[in-house]
Amino acid sequence: MTQSPRRTSGSVAMDDYLEQILHLIEEKGYARAVDVSKNLGISQASVTNMLQRLDAEGLVKHEKYRGTVLTEEGLRIAKAIVERHETLTRFLRLFGIDEETIYHDVEGMEHHVSRPTLNVIRALAETLEQDPDLLKRISKKCGSGK
Ligand code: MN
Repeated sequence: MTQSPRRTSGSVAMDDYLEQILHLIEEKGYARAVDVSKNLGISQASVTNMLQRLDAEGLVKHEKYRGTVLTEEGLRIAKAIVERHETLTRFLRLFGIDEETIYHDVEGMEHHVSRPTLNVIRALAETLEQDPDLLKRISKKCGSGK
C-alpha cells in the first residue's frame, strides 16, 4: 500500500472502502459488493477491483455465501478510520456547527489529517468538554455563540 508517513491510514479510496465495509459488517454481519457499490455510489466493477486489491493487501477476505469480511489487520485499520471520523465530528460539534457542514468537512479533513494533528484535536475536544467556560469564550470569538 502506498502510504504517506503523514497520513493516518492508506489511500483516500481505501479508507472510504474500509470505513464502508466496517459499517456494513456492523449492520449486517458481512459486506456485499452490491451494498458497498450502492453506499459509495461507485460501479460494481470498481468495487470488485478494490475488494481484490484489499484482499491482496490482506485487509479483507472473501467468504463464499457470506461476502467480504475484514481480516484482523483490516478491522484494526477500519476502526482507526471510523475513530478518526468520530473524533473530528466530536470536535466540530462543540461549536454548534450544523450537522451537514460537519459531515462534509469531516469527509474532507479525515483524508488529510496526520496522526499528530488528530491527537491534538482529540486532546482539544476533551479539554473543551471539561471546560465549558473556555468553550464559551472561543465560541464567542468565532460567532457560533453556543
Ligand atoms: Mn468518514
